[in-house]
Amino acid sequence: MSIQFHIEATRGAGRRGKIITPHGVVETPVFMPVGTLATVKGVPQDLLEELGVNILLGNTYHLYLRPGVENVRRAGGLHGFMAWDRAILTDSGGFQVFSLSELRKVSEEGVKFRSHLDGSPLFFSPESAMEAQIGLGADIIMAFDECTEYPAERERARASMELTARWAARSKEYFEEHKGEVPWGPQLAAVSSQPFTSRDGASENTAGLRSAGQARAPAPTRAVATTAARPTATPAGATQSLFGIVQGGMELDLRRESAERTIEIGFPGYAVGGLSVGEPRERTREVVEATVEHLPKDRPRYLMGVGTPEEIALYAQMGVDMMDCVLPTRAARHGLLFTSEGKISIKQARFITDQGPLDPKCGCRVCQRYSRAYLRHLYASNEVLAQVLNTIHNLSFYLDTMQAVRHSISLGEEMHFLSGVSSRPNL
Ligand SMILES: [Zn+2]
Repeated sequence: MSIQFHIEATRGAGRRGKIITPHGVVETPVFMPVGTLATVKGVPQDLLEELGVNILLGNTYHLYLRPGVENVRRAGGLHGFMAWDRAILTDSGGFQVFSLSELRKVSEEGVKFRSHLDGSPLFFSPESAMEAQIGLGADIIMAFDECTEYPAERERARASMELTARWAARSKEYFEEHKGEVPWGPQLAAVSSQPFTSRDGASENTAGLRSAGQARAPAPTRAVATTAARPTATPAGATQSLFGIVQGGMELDLRRESAERTIEIGFPGYAVGGLSVGEPRERTREVVEATVEHLPKDRPRYLMGVGTPEEIALYAQMGVDMMDCVLPTRAARHGLLFTSEGKISIKQARFITDQGPLDPKCGCRVCQRYSRAYLRHLYASNEVLAQVLNTIHNLSFYLDTMQAVRHSISLGEEMHFLSGVSSRPNL
């Protein structure tokens, strides 16, 4: 058993539903914060829980480099390693290879490239990307794909799409053979206590590490309280779910063909990849619309790497169930904040004496407590707390936007994005 997906209400193309994962229930449409290196930068896990985050992302490529898949696997997978017992999704690494590596060579077998950290040679294939994602142990993992660059000639987009289809079949084949190796549950007891060598060559003793099957040595009482507060999932026999990815560049007929070929291979969910790669936003919308209509209604649809609050609300109403984007967290670290009155740059001098809340319609702990003047001061002074508070607010705004979309679908009402989307207490 992997995931279950239930649609509970529809409005137009939009759907409200639930994805039941081995690590809890995710209400859809959902925005998934990006936790690249097993952390949503600046926000502790308990605050993510308070914000209502039920699923977050990890990036396979980054985790493969640091701390290394084996170190995460020995900690019980990402759930144990980062002390997060709600759902996790990992990408396949394909997009990072595409976006971070200038020296990459794609062949039928896989991709040769160089680490963006130290230039060391690396190789990813469908099989090694699956092996890494099984070791990381996310609830939902992604087929290894090639993200077609933009712009791309039609023949290039076709060849890339066809390669992605062949890699999807190989990804599934490897996954089906090895999905029992996910580092959850009782098999953790069998984790070796032998010292092992970390990626940088230093020998470490695993006695200092923890797994989900061991007490969290430094703070056992807290660990007990944490796990007692909510049911720990991972029922017996639970496995990960592998999603397929539709590519095809900006060519609508290739998108359709990619959807059909990916569906033929058969996955419990489907992603739309290869967008937000520099194309005009209107084109993104067209491709999403043209792709989503060819995806099965009874499986979750995941649009990768988009967008602004307005865009995620729009895509959700077009029938997308899952989205992720670095925008709210990355923008926050640059002092760009999304509010019900539009985007603001907190660094501006006009906020120096502004004692009002960041967003008077936002119910988040930042807007409830701090003034714009204080947030401006923290940012201008380069205080770490500025990044923390800004990120909490932006994530809250995105999550509230999705909550408002879900609410509007349930009520069968049209959602008007703008004022009111962040008024969580009224929902
Ligand atoms: Zn707020």
